[in-house]
Amino acid sequence: MRIVDLIQIKRDGGDFSRAEVEFFLQGFLKGDIADFQASALLMAIHFHGLSDQELADWTESAAALATPLDLDDIPGPKISKHSTGGVGDKTSLIVAPLVAAAGITVPAIANRGLAHSGGSLDKVESIPGFNSGLNGSQLKSALKKAGCAFLSQTEGRAPLDRKLDLLRNATGSVESVSLIAASILSRKLSEKTDAMVVDVKTGSGALMKKMTDSRRLAQALVGAGKRLNQRVVAVITDMDQPLGNAVGNALEVMEAVETMRGGGPEDLVELSLELASRIVCLAYPDRTLESAKEQLFKLLNEGAALAKFRQLLEAQGANTQIIDSFELLPNASADFVISSPRAGYISRISADDIGHAVALLGGGSEGMDARIDTAVGIVLEHKVGDRIQSGERLCTIYYNADTHLEEASAMVEDAFHIAAAAPEKRPLIYEVIQ
Ligand code: URA
Repeated sequence: MRIVDLIQIKRDGGDFSRAEVEFFLQGFLKGDIADFQASALLMAIHFHGLSDQELADWTESAAALATPLDLDDIPGPKISKHSTGGVGDKTSLIVAPLVAAAGITVPAIANRGLAHSGGSLDKVESIPGFNSGLNGSQLKSALKKAGCAFLSQTEGRAPLDRKLDLLRNATGSVESVSLIAASILSRKLSEKTDAMVVDVKTGSGALMKKMTDSRRLAQALVGAGKRLNQRVVAVITDMDQPLGNAVGNALEVMEAVETMRGGGPEDLVELSLELASRIVCLAYPDRTLESAKEQLFKLLNEGAALAKFRQLLEAQGANTQIIDSFELLPNASADFVISSPRAGYISRISADDIGHAVALLGGGSEGMDARIDTAVGIVLEHKVGDRIQSGERLCTIYYNADTHLEEASAMVEDAFHIAAAAPEKRPLIYEVIQ
């Protein structure tokens, strides 16, 4: 078999056999296939996609090249939670400890930010001391204590996923329905959980901007899940403006903690409760969404989720004092305020521009280099629909180096659209596919 033949098959819209999929994934992981050829193949997949059978084959073959988590002696239901990625999306940091407080185990093999979207791994690793490379026994004790854990795609655990992510990020093939579905599903297989809830984002800050593409992604996840005997619930949610107010790794940890203290922005709370209640209903099929939400609302507001988050930090070697002292998290050295040029209503906030601006400031990586500045970011003062006065503060940019500040601040200014009339309200939760 030759990799160039596989590139040509997909370039011309053909389908791979299982053996061809395995040839590519094994060869790429071992380094037998050059990055430039792997990039060409990924780009061909980006344009032509994978059939349902190819997606199932890819998912299983990729999972076979990772080390599955050993959860055998962890009692109770185990559910995965993933997101297709967005701007300001810190729900995993809230949902995992929240459902852990309801007795459900959530082991997450998390990824780094891709393209303009953030990743849970970068967020938790902004916490001093956080060890995302737990070994088997450390993981078990973390899960027994905290009920959740965030793990990186280490050499020993998920090296293929990490390698593919880096290459996709550097070569413009992140926004592919098939590759996103394959990446999330193969991690779900490695997590060895009973079922999975995926937050499929749609809108300017999502990897899929259009509802038709987000729906295709949700259907691919659920459909391939069925072929693989995996229960998947996909919730299509709005990502046309950043979720919550904070964008940027450490800033998002702070907002997640505020939310677990019973505060937090309305949209972030609503979405966290929705996703968490879907998880509870997967774990306990006789529960109703309403009763799950009621229970979770209490757990969130009475500090039970925050207590689990504290245990999670302890179990993963992180400094738990950050919960009460945000100054112990990375903080940027300077800030820059963006004010409204005129009065009116905020009709749009282009979430991808906000995400790109944070990446420009060093808070995200859009190449092969995974190093980022976790302190930088943007905190919004207003969201879509708000009425504002001329000169009123729209948001604050937190930065360390001013090398790209001018470009980033222009991007942020352009991201805010001000109109004379109030915009129509968009729903936060669009559809559930299962
Ligand atoms: N989230 C993932 O886990 N993988 C992707 O490819 C995109 C978003």
